[in-house]
Amino acid sequence: MVFEKTRVRFAPSPTGDLHVGNARTALLNWLFARRYGGSFILRIEDTDQERTSKIFETNILDDLRWLGIDWDEGPDKGGQGGPYRQSERLVLYRDCLKKLMAVQRLYPCYCTEEELEAERKALIARKMMPRYMGKCRHLTFEARQKLEREGRKPSYRFKIGEETVEFLDLIRGSMRFDAAALGDFIVARSTGIPSYNFAVVVDDHCMGISHVIRGEDHLTNTAFQLLIYRALGYNPPSFAHHSLVLGKDRAKLSKRHGAVAVREFRSRGFLPEALLNYLSLMGSSFGEGREILPKEDIIKKFSLERIGKGGAIFDEDKLKWFNAIYIRQSDPRYLIQCLYSFLQQEGYDFSRYSPSRFSQIVEAVQDNLGTLSDIVEYLDMFDDHKYQLSDEAKQMLREENSLSVLRALYRTIGKQSADEPSYRTLIETVRKETGFQGKKLYLPIRAAITGRMSGPELGKVFAVLGKSSIIKRIEEII
Ligand code: GLU
Repeated sequence: MVFEKTRVRFAPSPTGDLHVGNARTALLNWLFARRYGGSFILRIEDTDQERTSKIFETNILDDLRWLGIDWDEGPDKGGQGGPYRQSERLVLYRDCLKKLMAVQRLYPCYCTEEELEAERKALIARKMMPRYMGKCRHLTFEARQKLEREGRKPSYRFKIGEETVEFLDLIRGSMRFDAAALGDFIVARSTGIPSYNFAVVVDDHCMGISHVIRGEDHLTNTAFQLLIYRALGYNPPSFAHHSLVLGKDRAKLSKRHGAVAVREFRSRGFLPEALLNYLSLMGSSFGEGREILPKEDIIKKFSLERIGKGGAIFDEDKLKWFNAIYIRQSDPRYLIQCLYSFLQQEGYDFSRYSPSRFSQIVEAVQDNLGTLSDIVEYLDMFDDHKYQLSDEAKQMLREENSLSVLRALYRTIGKQSADEPSYRTLIETVRKETGFQGKKLYLPIRAAITGRMSGPELGKVFAVLGKSSIIKRIEEII
Protein backbone atom coordinates (compact mmCIF):
# COMPACT_ATOMS: atom_id res chain seq x y z
CA MET A 1 0.00 0.00 0.00
CA VAL A 2 1.34 3.46 -0.86
CA PHE A 3 0.48 6.12 1.67
CA GLU A 4 0.93 9.86 1.49
CA LYS A 5 3.92 11.28 3.32
CA THR A 6 2.70 12.58 6.64
CA ARG A 7 0.64 10.18 8.70
CA VAL A 8 0.39 10.32 12.46
CA ARG A 9 -1.79 8.47 14.89
CA PHE A 10 -3.30 8.63 18.34
CA ALA A 11 -3.61 5.17 19.84
CA PRO A 12 -5.52 5.14 23.11
CA SER A 13 -6.18 2.03 25.15
CA PRO A 14 -9.85 2.12 26.15
CA THR A 15 -9.17 1.25 29.77
CA GLY A 16 -10.36 4.54 31.26
CA ASP A 17 -11.58 8.00 30.38
CA LEU A 18 -9.47 10.34 28.27
CA HIS A 19 -6.92 11.91 30.61
CA VAL A 20 -5.71 15.44 29.86
CA GLY A 21 -2.21 14.01 29.36
CA ASN A 22 -3.47 11.70 26.61
CA ALA A 23 -5.63 14.46 25.19
CA ARG A 24 -2.46 16.54 24.86
CA THR A 25 -0.75 13.69 22.98
CA ALA A 26 -3.75 13.47 20.66
CA LEU A 27 -3.64 17.23 20.14
CA LEU A 28 0.07 17.35 19.34
CA ASN A 29 -0.42 14.64 16.72
CA TRP A 30 -3.50 16.33 15.33
CA LEU A 31 -1.75 19.71 15.15
CA PHE A 32 1.18 18.10 13.35
CA ALA A 33 -1.14 16.52 10.78
CA ARG A 34 -3.11 19.72 10.26
CA ARG A 35 0.04 21.86 10.10
CA TYR A 36 1.69 19.74 7.42
CA GLY A 37 -1.39 18.62 5.52
CA GLY A 38 -1.08 15.01 6.61
CA SER A 39 -3.54 12.46 7.98
CA PHE A 40 -4.47 11.94 11.58
CA ILE A 41 -5.42 8.36 12.39
CA LEU A 42 -7.26 7.07 15.41
CA ARG A 43 -6.43 3.53 16.46
CA ILE A 44 -7.95 1.72 19.41
CA GLU A 45 -5.48 -0.47 21.31
CA ASP A 46 -7.89 -2.93 22.84
CA THR A 47 -5.89 -6.13 23.20
CA ASP A 48 -5.99 -6.09 27.00
CA GLN A 49 -9.32 -7.88 27.18
CA GLU A 50 -9.64 -7.65 30.93
CA ARG A 51 -9.21 -3.89 31.23
CA THR A 52 -10.73 -2.80 27.95
CA SER A 53 -14.31 -1.63 27.80
CA LYS A 54 -16.51 -0.50 24.94
CA ILE A 55 -17.92 2.35 26.97
CA PHE A 56 -14.45 3.84 27.39
CA GLU A 57 -13.91 3.63 23.64
CA THR A 58 -17.20 5.44 23.01
CA ASN A 59 -16.34 8.08 25.61
CA ILE A 60 -12.83 8.68 24.24
CA LEU A 61 -14.19 9.27 20.75
CA ASP A 62 -16.87 11.52 22.15
CA ASP A 63 -14.39 13.57 24.22
CA LEU A 64 -12.05 13.99 21.24
CA ARG A 65 -14.93 15.24 19.11
CA TRP A 66 -16.03 17.57 21.88
CA LEU A 67 -12.51 19.02 22.08
CA GLY A 68 -12.63 19.72 18.37
CA ILE A 69 -10.15 17.05 17.29
CA ASP A 70 -11.25 15.28 14.11
CA TRP A 71 -9.60 12.25 12.56
CA ASP A 72 -9.24 11.20 8.94
CA GLU A 73 -9.28 7.46 9.56
CA GLY A 74 -10.56 5.55 12.54
CA PRO A 75 -12.83 2.78 13.82
CA ASP A 76 -16.00 4.70 13.07
CA LYS A 77 -14.81 5.99 9.70
CA GLY A 78 -12.72 3.29 8.09
CA GLY A 79 -9.86 4.15 5.76
CA GLN A 80 -7.06 2.59 3.78
CA GLY A 81 -5.07 1.43 6.83
CA GLY A 82 -7.90 -0.33 8.67
CA PRO A 83 -9.29 -2.05 10.58
CA TYR A 84 -8.60 0.44 13.36
CA ARG A 85 -9.16 -1.71 16.44
CA GLN A 86 -6.31 -4.01 17.41
CA SER A 87 -8.81 -6.69 18.35
CA GLU A 88 -9.77 -6.80 14.66
CA ARG A 89 -6.18 -7.13 13.46
CA LEU A 90 -5.14 -10.39 15.08
CA VAL A 91 -4.53 -12.16 11.75
CA LEU A 92 -2.00 -9.50 10.79
CA TYR A 93 -0.09 -9.97 14.04
CA ARG A 94 -0.04 -13.71 13.53
CA ASP A 95 1.50 -13.29 10.08
CA CYS A 96 4.19 -10.97 11.35
CA LEU A 97 4.88 -13.28 14.26
CA LYS A 98 5.62 -16.02 11.75
CA LYS A 99 8.11 -13.70 10.04
CA LEU A 100 9.89 -13.08 13.31
CA MET A 101 10.01 -16.83 13.94
CA ALA A 102 11.41 -17.35 10.45
CA VAL A 103 14.29 -14.94 11.08
CA GLN A 104 14.93 -16.77 14.37
CA ARG A 105 14.44 -13.84 16.66
CA LEU A 106 11.91 -15.52 18.96
CA TYR A 107 12.04 -18.19 21.60
CA PRO A 108 9.36 -19.68 23.82
CA CYS A 109 9.39 -18.62 27.45
CA TYR A 110 7.73 -20.85 30.03
CA CYS A 111 8.26 -18.68 33.09
CA THR A 112 5.16 -18.09 35.18
CA GLU A 113 4.03 -14.70 36.45
CA GLU A 114 5.25 -15.66 39.93
CA GLU A 115 8.69 -16.64 38.69
CA LEU A 116 9.02 -13.40 36.75
CA GLU A 117 7.90 -11.36 39.73
CA ALA A 118 10.44 -13.11 41.98
CA GLU A 119 13.20 -12.36 39.46
CA ARG A 120 12.13 -8.73 39.28
CA LYS A 121 12.15 -8.34 43.05
CA ALA A 122 15.55 -10.00 43.37
CA LEU A 123 17.05 -7.62 40.80
CA ILE A 124 15.57 -4.59 42.52
CA ALA A 125 16.94 -5.83 45.85
CA ARG A 126 20.40 -5.98 44.23
CA LYS A 127 19.87 -2.44 42.90
CA MET A 128 19.82 -3.69 39.33
CA MET A 129 17.43 -2.64 36.58
CA PRO A 130 14.55 -5.14 36.49
CA ARG A 131 14.57 -7.08 33.24
CA TYR A 132 14.26 -10.62 31.99
CA MET A 133 17.56 -12.39 32.54
CA GLY A 134 17.03 -14.94 29.77
CA LYS A 135 16.24 -18.08 31.74
CA CYS A 136 14.35 -19.76 28.88
CA ARG A 137 16.60 -18.51 26.11
CA HIS A 138 18.90 -21.50 26.09
CA LEU A 139 16.52 -24.31 27.00
CA THR A 140 17.21 -27.51 25.12
CA PHE A 141 14.59 -29.08 22.91
CA GLU A 142 14.03 -31.78 25.58
CA ALA A 143 13.63 -29.25 28.39
CA ARG A 144 11.00 -27.39 26.35
CA GLN A 145 9.13 -30.60 25.64
CA LYS A 146 9.15 -31.50 29.29
CA LEU A 147 7.68 -28.12 30.27
CA GLU A 148 5.00 -28.45 27.62
CA ARG A 149 4.09 -31.89 28.90
CA GLU A 150 3.63 -30.29 32.34
CA GLY A 151 0.99 -28.17 30.69
CA ARG A 152 2.91 -24.90 30.50
CA LYS A 153 1.96 -22.74 27.53
CA PRO A 154 4.76 -20.49 26.34
CA SER A 155 4.79 -16.83 25.59
CA TYR A 156 7.27 -15.69 22.91
CA ARG A 157 10.20 -13.44 23.60
CA PHE A 158 12.35 -11.40 21.29
CA LYS A 159 16.00 -12.45 21.35
CA ILE A 160 18.12 -9.33 21.76
CA GLY A 161 21.66 -9.52 20.42
CA GLU A 162 24.74 -7.48 21.26
CA GLU A 163 23.29 -4.44 19.56
CA THR A 164 22.60 -0.81 20.17
CA VAL A 165 19.58 1.19 19.18
CA GLU A 166 20.07 4.74 18.07
CA PHE A 167 17.61 7.24 16.73
CA LEU A 168 17.13 10.96 16.36
CA ASP A 169 14.22 12.07 18.48
CA LEU A 170 12.56 15.11 16.92
CA ILE A 171 12.12 16.68 20.34
CA ARG A 172 14.92 15.23 22.45
CA GLY A 173 17.70 14.90 19.90
CA SER A 174 20.01 11.95 19.58
CA MET A 175 19.04 8.87 21.66
CA ARG A 176 21.03 5.72 22.23
CA PHE A 177 20.19 2.47 24.04
CA ASP A 178 22.36 -0.49 24.82
CA ALA A 179 19.81 -3.09 23.75
CA ALA A 180 21.43 -5.99 25.58
CA ALA A 181 20.75 -4.19 28.85
CA LEU A 182 17.02 -4.08 28.15
CA GLY A 183 16.37 -7.79 28.45
CA ASP A 184 14.49 -10.06 26.04
CA PHE A 185 10.90 -8.85 25.88
CA ILE A 186 7.59 -10.56 25.21
CA VAL A 187 6.18 -10.30 21.72
CA ALA A 188 3.23 -12.65 22.05
CA ARG A 189 1.52 -13.85 25.20
CA SER A 190 0.72 -17.47 25.92
CA THR A 191 -2.86 -16.68 24.92
CA GLY A 192 -1.64 -15.74 21.43
CA ILE A 193 -2.42 -12.07 22.03
CA PRO A 194 0.41 -9.82 20.82
CA SER A 195 2.22 -7.60 23.32
CA TYR A 196 1.84 -3.85 23.08
CA ASN A 197 5.32 -3.37 21.60
CA PHE A 198 4.78 -5.91 18.87
CA ALA A 199 1.25 -4.90 17.88
CA VAL A 200 2.28 -1.25 17.68
CA VAL A 201 5.12 -1.98 15.26
CA VAL A 202 2.90 -4.07 13.02
CA ASP A 203 0.21 -1.39 13.08
CA ASP A 204 2.43 1.63 12.63
CA HIS A 205 4.15 -0.11 9.73
CA CYS A 206 0.99 -1.39 8.04
CA MET A 207 -0.82 1.92 8.53
CA GLY A 208 2.04 3.84 6.92
CA ILE A 209 2.68 5.98 9.99
CA SER A 210 5.44 8.48 9.24
CA HIS A 211 5.82 10.08 12.69
CA VAL A 212 5.15 8.61 16.11
CA ILE A 213 4.54 11.42 18.59
CA ARG A 214 3.95 10.19 22.13
CA GLY A 215 4.93 10.68 25.76
CA GLU A 216 8.47 10.21 27.03
CA ASP A 217 7.23 7.31 29.16
CA HIS A 218 7.40 5.32 25.91
CA LEU A 219 11.12 5.93 25.27
CA THR A 220 12.22 2.43 26.27
CA ASN A 221 9.33 1.00 24.30
CA THR A 222 10.68 2.83 21.26
CA ALA A 223 13.99 1.00 21.71
CA PHE A 224 12.13 -2.34 21.83
CA GLN A 225 10.07 -1.38 18.84
CA LEU A 226 13.08 -0.34 16.79
CA LEU A 227 14.56 -3.79 17.39
CA ILE A 228 11.43 -5.33 15.91
CA TYR A 229 11.52 -2.97 12.91
CA ARG A 230 15.11 -3.98 12.33
CA ALA A 231 14.40 -7.71 12.62
CA LEU A 232 11.47 -7.50 10.23
CA GLY A 233 13.36 -5.30 7.76
CA TYR A 234 10.79 -2.51 8.03
CA ASN A 235 11.66 1.18 7.72
CA PRO A 236 10.87 2.78 11.08
CA PRO A 237 8.91 6.02 11.33
CA SER A 238 10.42 9.15 12.91
CA PHE A 239 9.90 9.48 16.64
CA ALA A 240 9.18 12.42 18.91
CA HIS A 241 8.73 11.95 22.66
CA HIS A 242 7.12 14.85 24.41
CA SER A 243 7.34 15.53 28.12
CA LEU A 244 4.52 14.40 30.35
CA VAL A 245 1.85 16.52 31.95
CA LEU A 246 2.73 17.09 35.59
CA GLY A 247 0.87 18.42 38.60
CA LYS A 248 2.05 21.58 40.35
CA ASP A 249 4.25 19.40 42.59
CA ARG A 250 6.00 18.15 39.42
CA ALA A 251 4.73 14.59 39.92
CA LYS A 252 2.98 12.92 36.99
CA LEU A 253 -0.57 14.30 36.86
CA SER A 254 -2.92 11.85 38.51
CA LYS A 255 -6.27 11.72 40.25
CA ARG A 256 -4.78 12.83 43.52
CA HIS A 257 -4.15 16.23 41.91
CA GLY A 258 -7.90 16.64 41.31
CA ALA A 259 -9.75 16.45 38.01
CA VAL A 260 -7.72 14.80 35.25
CA ALA A 261 -10.30 13.45 32.80
CA VAL A 262 -11.46 15.60 29.89
CA ARG A 263 -14.97 14.44 30.83
CA GLU A 264 -14.69 16.04 34.27
CA PHE A 265 -13.67 19.39 32.83
CA ARG A 266 -16.52 19.11 30.40
CA SER A 267 -19.07 18.46 33.12
CA ARG A 268 -17.68 21.30 35.22
CA GLY A 269 -18.45 23.73 32.44
CA PHE A 270 -15.18 24.33 30.62
CA LEU A 271 -15.35 25.35 26.98
CA PRO A 272 -13.65 22.95 24.58
CA GLU A 273 -11.86 25.84 22.86
CA ALA A 274 -10.30 26.93 26.15
CA LEU A 275 -9.12 23.43 27.03
CA LEU A 276 -7.78 22.88 23.52
CA ASN A 277 -5.90 26.18 23.60
CA TYR A 278 -4.48 25.50 27.05
CA LEU A 279 -3.38 21.93 26.37
CA SER A 280 -1.86 22.79 22.98
CA LEU A 281 0.45 25.47 24.26
CA MET A 282 1.33 24.15 27.73
CA GLY A 283 5.00 23.29 28.06
CA SER A 284 5.75 24.54 24.51
CA SER A 285 7.13 27.74 23.08
CA PHE A 286 5.63 27.77 19.61
CA GLY A 287 2.92 30.16 20.79
CA GLU A 288 5.71 32.77 20.93
CA GLY A 289 4.51 34.28 24.17
CA ARG A 290 0.90 34.52 23.09
CA GLU A 291 -1.36 32.49 25.30
CA ILE A 292 -4.83 32.97 23.91
CA LEU A 293 -4.74 31.72 20.35
CA PRO A 294 -7.55 30.44 18.19
CA LYS A 295 -7.21 26.93 16.83
CA GLU A 296 -6.30 28.12 13.30
CA ASP A 297 -3.38 30.15 14.63
CA ILE A 298 -2.16 27.32 16.83
CA ILE A 299 -2.08 25.10 13.74
CA LYS A 300 -0.12 27.72 11.77
CA LYS A 301 2.44 28.20 14.52
CA PHE A 302 2.81 24.56 15.55
CA SER A 303 6.34 23.22 15.60
CA LEU A 304 7.47 19.90 17.07
CA GLU A 305 10.93 21.28 17.78
CA ARG A 306 9.44 23.88 20.08
CA ILE A 307 7.69 21.44 22.38
CA GLY A 308 9.57 21.68 25.65
CA LYS A 309 11.69 18.81 26.94
CA GLY A 310 10.82 19.61 30.53
CA GLY A 311 7.50 18.58 32.03
CA ALA A 312 4.36 20.54 31.23
CA ILE A 313 2.75 21.72 34.46
CA PHE A 314 -1.02 21.50 34.53
CA ASP A 315 -2.39 24.43 36.49
CA GLU A 316 -6.13 24.33 36.91
CA ASP A 317 -6.29 27.98 37.97
CA LYS A 318 -4.62 28.96 34.75
CA LEU A 319 -7.10 26.84 32.81
CA LYS A 320 -9.92 28.63 34.64
CA TRP A 321 -8.41 31.92 33.58
CA PHE A 322 -8.34 30.73 29.95
CA ASN A 323 -11.92 29.58 30.26
CA ALA A 324 -13.21 32.87 31.64
CA ILE A 325 -11.51 34.72 28.78
CA TYR A 326 -13.02 32.36 26.21
CA ILE A 327 -16.46 32.81 27.75
CA ARG A 328 -16.08 36.58 27.81
CA GLN A 329 -15.00 36.63 24.16
CA SER A 330 -17.69 34.25 22.94
CA ASP A 331 -20.38 35.36 20.58
CA PRO A 332 -23.44 35.47 22.90
CA ARG A 333 -25.43 33.24 20.53
CA TYR A 334 -22.70 30.59 20.65
CA LEU A 335 -22.43 30.91 24.41
CA ILE A 336 -26.19 30.46 24.79
CA GLN A 337 -26.00 27.26 22.73
CA CYS A 338 -23.13 25.98 24.91
CA LEU A 339 -25.09 26.83 28.06
CA TYR A 340 -28.21 25.07 26.81
CA SER A 341 -26.31 21.88 26.02
CA PHE A 342 -24.39 22.10 29.28
CA LEU A 343 -27.56 22.51 31.38
CA GLN A 344 -29.27 19.77 29.45
CA GLN A 345 -26.33 17.43 30.01
CA GLU A 346 -26.36 18.24 33.72
CA GLY A 347 -30.12 17.66 33.95
CA TYR A 348 -30.98 21.25 34.97
CA ASP A 349 -34.57 22.21 34.26
CA PHE A 350 -34.54 25.55 32.46
CA SER A 351 -37.99 25.22 30.89
CA ARG A 352 -39.31 28.15 32.93
CA TYR A 353 -37.02 30.55 31.08
CA SER A 354 -38.21 31.80 27.74
CA PRO A 355 -35.41 32.02 25.15
CA SER A 356 -35.46 35.81 25.36
CA ARG A 357 -35.31 35.83 29.16
CA PHE A 358 -32.49 33.31 29.07
CA SER A 359 -30.45 35.37 26.60
CA GLN A 360 -31.10 38.53 28.58
CA ILE A 361 -29.66 36.88 31.69
CA VAL A 362 -26.69 35.44 29.80
CA GLU A 363 -25.82 38.76 28.28
CA ALA A 364 -25.95 40.39 31.70
CA VAL A 365 -23.62 37.86 33.33
CA GLN A 366 -21.35 36.79 30.45
CA ASP A 367 -18.34 38.67 31.84
CA ASN A 368 -18.81 37.08 35.24
CA LEU A 369 -18.88 33.43 34.22
CA GLY A 370 -15.71 31.50 35.06
CA THR A 371 -17.26 28.25 33.87
CA LEU A 372 -20.57 27.38 32.25
CA SER A 373 -21.74 25.90 35.55
CA ASP A 374 -21.65 29.36 37.15
CA ILE A 375 -24.80 30.18 35.19
CA VAL A 376 -26.85 28.13 37.65
CA GLU A 377 -26.18 30.54 40.52
CA TYR A 378 -27.07 33.47 38.29
CA LEU A 379 -30.29 31.90 37.09
CA ASP A 380 -31.20 31.47 40.73
CA MET A 381 -30.19 35.03 41.50
CA PHE A 382 -32.60 36.41 38.94
CA ASP A 383 -35.42 34.13 40.09
CA ASP A 384 -37.56 35.76 42.81
CA HIS A 385 -38.35 32.35 44.30
CA LYS A 386 -34.77 31.20 44.47
CA TYR A 387 -32.70 34.24 45.20
CA GLN A 388 -31.22 34.23 48.70
CA LEU A 389 -29.13 36.52 50.83
CA SER A 390 -25.64 35.31 51.63
CA ASP A 391 -24.43 35.67 55.22
CA GLU A 392 -22.21 38.56 54.22
CA ALA A 393 -25.12 40.29 52.52
CA LYS A 394 -27.31 39.80 55.60
CA GLN A 395 -24.67 41.35 57.79
CA MET A 396 -24.28 44.32 55.50
CA LEU A 397 -28.02 44.90 55.46
CA ARG A 398 -28.21 45.02 59.23
CA GLU A 399 -26.27 48.27 59.24
CA GLU A 400 -28.31 51.46 59.61
CA ASN A 401 -26.75 53.25 56.62
CA SER A 402 -27.67 50.27 54.42
CA LEU A 403 -31.28 50.64 55.41
CA SER A 404 -31.35 54.34 54.67
CA VAL A 405 -29.92 53.66 51.19
CA LEU A 406 -32.56 51.02 50.57
CA ARG A 407 -35.37 53.22 51.85
CA ALA A 408 -34.26 55.99 49.52
CA LEU A 409 -34.05 53.58 46.64
CA TYR A 410 -37.49 52.24 47.43
CA ARG A 411 -39.06 55.69 47.45
CA THR A 412 -37.33 56.70 44.24
CA ILE A 413 -38.06 53.57 42.26
CA GLY A 414 -41.71 53.74 43.31
CA LYS A 415 -41.94 57.12 41.63
CA GLN A 416 -40.52 55.91 38.32
CA SER A 417 -43.21 55.01 35.87
CA ALA A 418 -41.27 52.95 33.31
CA ASP A 419 -41.06 49.22 34.02
CA GLU A 420 -37.38 49.22 33.22
CA PRO A 421 -35.92 51.48 35.90
CA SER A 422 -33.37 54.02 34.76
CA TYR A 423 -30.40 52.93 36.82
CA ARG A 424 -28.31 56.09 36.45
CA THR A 425 -31.14 58.41 37.54
CA LEU A 426 -32.02 56.14 40.46
CA ILE A 427 -28.51 55.99 41.84
CA GLU A 428 -28.03 59.70 41.40
CA THR A 429 -31.19 60.47 43.38
CA VAL A 430 -30.31 58.01 46.17
CA ARG A 431 -26.81 59.49 46.38
CA LYS A 432 -28.18 62.99 46.76
CA GLU A 433 -30.83 61.97 49.28
CA THR A 434 -28.55 59.95 51.54
CA GLY A 435 -25.24 61.68 51.02
CA PHE A 436 -23.54 58.27 50.66
CA GLN A 437 -21.33 57.34 47.77
CA GLY A 438 -18.90 54.64 46.65
CA LYS A 439 -19.11 51.36 48.55
CA LYS A 440 -21.53 52.76 51.12
CA LEU A 441 -23.96 53.46 48.34
CA TYR A 442 -23.45 50.51 45.99
CA LEU A 443 -22.81 47.61 48.34
CA PRO A 444 -26.11 47.74 50.25
CA ILE A 445 -27.97 47.92 46.94
CA ARG A 446 -26.00 45.03 45.51
CA ALA A 447 -26.46 42.98 48.68
CA ALA A 448 -30.20 43.58 48.73
CA ILE A 449 -30.90 43.10 45.04
CA THR A 450 -28.57 40.21 44.25
CA GLY A 451 -28.05 38.68 47.70
CA ARG A 452 -24.27 38.86 47.23
CA MET A 453 -21.39 41.24 47.60
CA SER A 454 -20.05 40.95 44.07
CA GLY A 455 -21.33 40.04 40.65
CA PRO A 456 -22.46 41.54 37.37
CA GLU A 457 -22.77 45.27 36.85
CA LEU A 458 -25.70 46.64 38.84
CA GLY A 459 -27.08 48.49 35.83
CA LYS A 460 -27.41 45.20 33.97
CA VAL A 461 -28.95 43.53 37.01
CA PHE A 462 -31.54 46.28 37.28
CA ALA A 463 -32.43 45.94 33.63
CA VAL A 464 -32.92 42.18 33.87
CA LEU A 465 -34.86 42.25 37.14
CA GLY A 466 -37.27 45.06 36.30
CA LYS A 467 -39.09 47.35 38.69
CA SER A 468 -41.47 44.89 40.35
CA SER A 469 -38.77 42.39 41.33
CA ILE A 470 -36.55 45.10 42.73
CA ILE A 471 -39.42 46.53 44.77
CA LYS A 472 -40.35 43.09 46.07
CA ARG A 473 -36.79 42.38 47.14
CA ILE A 474 -36.37 45.70 48.93
CA GLU A 475 -39.73 45.33 50.67
CA GLU A 476 -38.74 41.99 52.09
CA ILE A 477 -35.66 43.52 53.60
CA ILE A 478 -36.98 46.79 54.98
N1 GLU B 1 -1.96 2.49 23.77
C1 GLU B 1 -0.76 3.17 24.14
C2 GLU B 1 -1.05 4.12 25.29
O1 GLU B 1 -2.20 4.48 25.48
C3 GLU B 1 -0.22 3.89 22.95
C4 GLU B 1 1.18 4.30 23.05
C5 GLU B 1 1.71 4.67 21.69
O2 GLU B 1 1.40 5.75 21.25
O3 GLU B 1 2.40 3.86 21.10
O4 GLU B 1 -0.16 4.50 26.01
